[in-house]
Amino acid sequence: MKEIILIKYGEMALKGMNKRSFEDVLVKNIKRRLKNLGKTTITRAQSTIYIEPAFDDFDTDEAVERLKKVFGIAALCRAAVCEKDFSDISRVACEYLEDTLSYAKSFKVTAKRSDKAFPMKSPEICRELGGVLIDKFPGLTVDVNDPEVTVTVEIRDTNAYVHAGNIKGAGGLPVGTGGHALLLLSGGIDSPVAGYMMAKRGIHISSIHYISPPYTSDRARLKVEQLAQKITPYCGSIAFFCVPFTKIQEAIKDNCPEEFFTIIMRRLMMKIALKISEREGCLALITGESMGQVASQTLSALICTDAVCTIPVFRPLIGMDKTEIIEISRKIDTFETSIQPYEDCCTVFTPKHPKVRPKLSDIEAAENSFDFQPLIDEAVENTEMKIFEPEL
Ligand code: ATP
Ligand code: MG
Repeated sequence: MKEIILIKYGEMALKGMNKRSFEDVLVKNIKRRLKNLGKTTITRAQSTIYIEPAFDDFDTDEAVERLKKVFGIAALCRAAVCEKDFSDISRVACEYLEDTLSYAKSFKVTAKRSDKAFPMKSPEICRELGGVLIDKFPGLTVDVNDPEVTVTVEIRDTNAYVHAGNIKGAGGLPVGTGGHALLLLSGGIDSPVAGYMMAKRGIHISSIHYISPPYTSDRARLKVEQLAQKITPYCGSIAFFCVPFTKIQEAIKDNCPEEFFTIIMRRLMMKIALKISEREGCLALITGESMGQVASQTLSALICTDAVCTIPVFRPLIGMDKTEIIEISRKIDTFETSIQPYEDCCTVFTPKHPKVRPKLSDIEAAENSFDFQPLIDEAVENTEMKIFEPEL
């Protein structure tokens, strides 16, 4: 009996003329994620992608786990292939679902018949197959409202397929269909979640991280690298730029009023991110900021930060509570890493009383009292790059 994986896309099916190019990217992303699991044939028809393993030793469990994190997939299922013939469908259903149905108490059958030439209509397939399964598994009763198992028969172009219902996919749009953006990645809870959320909308992510040795340790940097690695199953390959930021922070501390320290620092972070974006072809920045969370995330502070930005800054967490952000960080498995207590450059030289409602003109005047440009250029020059790939 041959088992395959069926991939169904939600939102993408609505893309009309562009659907094909979205599908192309999704298929490419799927291939990349399954590469080392063995040879497969991937085909598509009727808004479904079919993954057919070439050999019996294909690790379908692992493939399904990986595919559950690929954006653009609304639902997936593993299914047995049968002839388009009712007796073969019955035989395969009894055999393929034996383990599941032997232990289940209730079930129902649903049928989808996209091949209208198939001689039985869907209600008839359900009725007849339901009868066959009850005879074979006497412990089962039919429950159409809340069944434990939904036996599904799909009659498609070349074959029929039997499975025990869909598994929920990651949703969203395939990474790479939405352009390229640069994520300001810190070691905190928020920014990895922000990256995940924009990747879900099809954005290909690169990341930038600022370090201030000796105020920040190697261990702190390593933690951020781990976070970048942890979001790769969702985001795909991520370039990681690490910017030496110590001299800039020291210059701010020595030359600017303490109460403006954080805002000026954030503006200079943005200036560096813009330079890297231009060089790398990133069309927007992404941060983990959330309205009002800290002094640098009040509306006036965000306005001061944005004033230096010449490309859009996406803040997908802007309207979320910390508890909602934490929920996502647990789901994507970054939370435990994020809460490890290592220092971030943002926590170095933090003012005792940061300005909560800074005025842009005051900030600009303070910043202009020192020429930061040579230090910015030097930091960009000395930026190191690494690439993180999903572990295979
Ligand atoms: P996070 O939990 O993501 O660290 P936070 O609540 O601690 O966020 P801040 O420290 O004010 O907030 O940082 C706000 C945003 O600025 C972060 O979400 C991140 O996008 C960016 N950021 C902060 N520190 C760094 C850093 N060292 N390198 C890169 N980006 C940073
Ligand atoms: Mg932080």
